[in-house]
This record gives sequence, C-alpha cells and structure tokens, in this order.
Amino acid sequence: MANKPQPMATDISRPFWEALKQHRVSIQHCTDCGSWAFFPRSHCPSCLSDKLQWRDVSGAGTLLTYTVARIPTLPDFADEAPQKLAVVELAEGVHINTTLVGLGEDEIHIGMALKPVFDESGETTLLRFTGQDKALSVIQAGAQAEAPVTQVVSKRQIHFKDFASLKALVSDSYSDWSNRYTVSQDIIDQFAALSGDDYWIHTDPERAKKQSPFGSTIAHGMLIQVLLSRLTMPLDWELAGFGNMVNYGSDKLRFPSPVLSGSQIHGRSRVKAVDEVKAGTQLTLEMCIHVVGQERPALINELIVLYMP
Ligand SMILES: [Zn+2]
Repeated sequence: MANKPQPMATDISRPFWEALKQHRVSIQHCTDCGSWAFFPRSHCPSCLSDKLQWRDVSGAGTLLTYTVARIPTLPDFADEAPQKLAVVELAEGVHINTTLVGLGEDEIHIGMALKPVFDESGETTLLRFTGQDKALSVIQAGAQAEAPVTQVVSKRQIHFKDFASLKALVSDSYSDWSNRYTVSQDIIDQFAALSGDDYWIHTDPERAKKQSPFGSTIAHGMLIQVLLSRLTMPLDWELAGFGNMVNYGSDKLRFPSPVLSGSQIHGRSRVKAVDEVKAGTQLTLEMCIHVVGQERPALINELIVLYMP
C-alpha cells in the first residue's frame, strides 16, 4: 500500500489536487472561448488562450468506457484487483481516467450515471467514481486494505433452512479468486513466536538458502490455514436467518505445495455439501489457497460450518 506510486502535483495541476483534499472537483475553464479542459494545462486546447480559470464542478458524469484488469497494472496494486479502469465523461464534456469503486462487475454499464468518490486511502486524495445511486462518497485512510471494494457487491440472501436453494449451491466449479495476501518473513516469524514452532526451515533464511530443498524459508502449513481469514472469497450469496454459526472443523486438511517466504497467495472456494443435521444446517466448503500463478494448491481445507437457529 505504502509503495503505490502517487501523483506528483505540479504548479499547473496543484489546484486540482488541493481541491480533491477538500472533497471538491475543480477543472479549468477558458474565459475566452468557454471551453472546459482536463487534464490541467497552461493553454486552452480549443483556442490556445492562456486565460484558464479553475472552477468547481459537481463531478457528475457518465461512464464512457471501462475495462476490468484482472492482472494488476503494477504489483503494488494487487490489493485492488480486479481493477475497474474507466474513462468518465463529466457533464462539462471533459474525459477523466479513473477507477470505479463500490460497484460489482455486473453493475457496470457504459453510459451509466456516476458521481465522484474522494479516496483518502493513500498519501494523496484521489478521484474515483461510483454509481450515482450509491451511498459511497469517501474512502477513508486504511479502509481499502481491510475491505476490498469487491465486498460491496450485494449478495443473494439464502435462508439457512432453505435446503432446495442451498443444495443448488453445491458445485464442482470454484468461485473467482479472492484478494491477494503477501506472506512475509515477518508474518512467518510472528507465527513461529505464537505457535512455538520455530524450526529453521521457517525462521532462518540464511540456513534455508543453503540447506532447504526450496532454497528459501517457507511458511508453516498451519499459518497458511490461519490466513484463510485474510482472504475474502467473492461469493455472490450468503446465508441468512440463523442465530449463530460455528467453525465445526475440517473433513480434510492438506498442504500439497509449500509457500515460500514473500509469496503472494490467493484463494477460491466451492460448496461441496449441504446437510441437514440435528443442530441446524451444515455447510461443507472446500477452500483452496494457491500461490498466485501456481496450478497446484498450497492448501486444501474442507471446512465444515454449522449454522444454528
Ligand atoms: Zn479557449
């Protein structure tokens, strides 16, 4: 997050960035010919006059075009994937390159009405856009790291006793990939301290470089299992109407391949079984974690979740 490249304000563009900080959208207007201009510049693109004046606008616009980038534009943007890269046409006619936030992929349509979102999650306040009908208007610092915007997608609610609908969730195919998480040596060391498992293959990079068959330290399998909580599986449904839910354990837990220190992981899941049990409803979810780009999973967990009235 901290390593993301940030825009640099110049003498010409500074009023634009300063306005965003105050949650205003300000663009240039030519006092000679009445044209609007964006990006910030020294001369009017229509009549070449240098009499450009900054004016606040509503920021309302429409979606001119967009693409969903599933491979991050830079590694630093992996936590935002899939990125919804867009060109927005403001009501004043200028075009702005931006990203869409708070919108599920199925909610995005060319021509849709958009409004500005002031993104304060980095060092500089950035201009993003979302649907005109959305409540989102500011992304607070730190918010993105904890809650990927894909979570905003409205989910189909299924009552925990609606077995016909629940059985229909059982499938051989997996969900889309979750957000990504980097398994740093620091987090491996913290897990070693917590668990007491400080075997050198996890904690001694120098020795691991020489003696480990992997040429590097690797994460504990149980650490990868714990990190499931860091991955948000993009499911379009959720259970409703239950009193409480408990993690009932696992039918199967395997670590088919190692996760080298510094690797990025992501996960996906599928519903393997739905059973009516005495205590309520039992959902068996097959959760798989992979190192990004690797076919063979690092973890397979057939997790049993019990939903009770
Ligand atoms: Zn002009």
